[in-house]
Amino acid sequence: MSTAAPQISDGYLISTHPGNGSEVGRFAVDDAESVAKAVARARDAQTWWANLGFTQRRKLLLECRAEMARRIKDLVRLIRAETGKSVNDAFTEVAGCFENLAWAPKNARRVLGPRRRRGSLSMIDHSAYVEYRPYGVVAVIGPWNYPMYTVMGSVVYALAAGNTVVLKPSEYTPAVGQWLADVIDEVVGRPIVTVVHGLGETGAALCESEVDKIAFTGSVPTARKVAMAAAKRLIPVLIEGGGKDAAIVDVDADLDKTAEQLLWGAFTNAGQTCIGYERAYVPESIATELIDKLVKQATGIKVGDGEDAQIGPITMPRQIDVIAAHIDDALNRGATAVVGGREAVQPPYVHPTILVDVPEDSRAVTEETFGPVLVVNTVADAEEGLRRANATEYGLGGAVFGKRNAMSLARRMRSGMTSINSGFAFAGLPSLPFGGVGSSGYGRAHGDDGLREFAVVKSIAKRR
Ligand code: NAP
Repeated sequence: MSTAAPQISDGYLISTHPGNGSEVGRFAVDDAESVAKAVARARDAQTWWANLGFTQRRKLLLECRAEMARRIKDLVRLIRAETGKSVNDAFTEVAGCFENLAWAPKNARRVLGPRRRRGSLSMIDHSAYVEYRPYGVVAVIGPWNYPMYTVMGSVVYALAAGNTVVLKPSEYTPAVGQWLADVIDEVVGRPIVTVVHGLGETGAALCESEVDKIAFTGSVPTARKVAMAAAKRLIPVLIEGGGKDAAIVDVDADLDKTAEQLLWGAFTNAGQTCIGYERAYVPESIATELIDKLVKQATGIKVGDGEDAQIGPITMPRQIDVIAAHIDDALNRGATAVVGGREAVQPPYVHPTILVDVPEDSRAVTEETFGPVLVVNTVADAEEGLRRANATEYGLGGAVFGKRNAMSLARRMRSGMTSINSGFAFAGLPSLPFGGVGSSGYGRAHGDDGLREFAVVKSIAKRR
């Protein structure tokens, strides 16, 4: 068992590799006073940054991207060191970051540039304008599971809109957050992204500080605290919370491709993915055939720490207890493990587990598991699958596998994002808004809506 949880020692946060416990980096912990200073630094830089305008900001942000691309091996190494991700999972994360790093600055002027609007007949002697102005200083608070991809979905959009950022990375991944700010600082020469480090207290202090907007990605319990802190000063907040995403399989789905995409969506990043598939609903008539394919394909997945591993260790040690409890609860209540099961839990690793016939009120169906555990339950047809998929407080992503009714099912899935016949393709397309409904949060990252998320709308009517 690794001792990989981050430690605080002599005022320093020490991050470690979750597999072997080796130290990755140490960072001075920020208290409320140093958080306030970081916000003040970001505020000083913001006027300069906003006044540069879209073209100059675009140029500098694309230079930051080019510099990050030159140092991509460092970034992949750091992400792997702090999260334990496989090589493939780390590169997949980084690829998504680079898409957003290009898309936001290239589209900011089109989406946020001042625009003339037509007035109604009674306003014929008026000209009407809409402007999108930056908020000022944005607090970005991120999780550890995709420590660069998740924060990039806010950082580069906030910057492209003319804000500056104070970033609070997860206590598990401070070095990744620091790397991002350091590269930007070297290229831009001003602190348009400042990092503060620490445990939850630092994040709480940032929410209580003088920031103008909060972009939070993390668990639902923390999201509630962040939203309550934001409510005190009535500042806007973007909430990207957790999920319990489901896949609905219809009878006309291509079962080979469905099995492949379901497994990828469930087990990539060791299942520590907010939009990972944790439930699949499969019509009885095709269930045996699909489960056979899932078992065959899942059996060969390589778990470990080496370069050839497909699944790395579980990053957060206490999550292993949650995953084990969900598996136990399901098995104790009559479910069957067709892959993995209790013996799959070998800290710091959890091997892929597929549970079938899991009671719908068991923890593995109702709570976020955040590990490589896929529940496969049979239903009469895809309509029943849709009803069960939607019977959750969450509503982040989801998937439909099938042909004739796939679009209709996708539209009626209660989620912010749905893929058809692929494993969460929506997350790889920077033009598509990213976010959820229900307890999974509100507001949107990515795309036109992601840019508008970081701008205040200003209307001007001018009499001629
Ligand atoms: P978490 O425990 O909620 O922490 C998220 C961040 O909030 C961390 O930086 C944390 O700092 C900070 N924090 C803790 N208490 C705070 C407070 N009172 N005020 C302000 N900030 C505070 O979540 P996590 O374990 O890092 O991440 C996993 C969760 O994130 C899962 O539920 C996953 O589904 C979700 N997630 C959602 C998305 C999405 O886009 N919807 C993407 C990725 C992950 P410390 O680490 O120092 O405690």
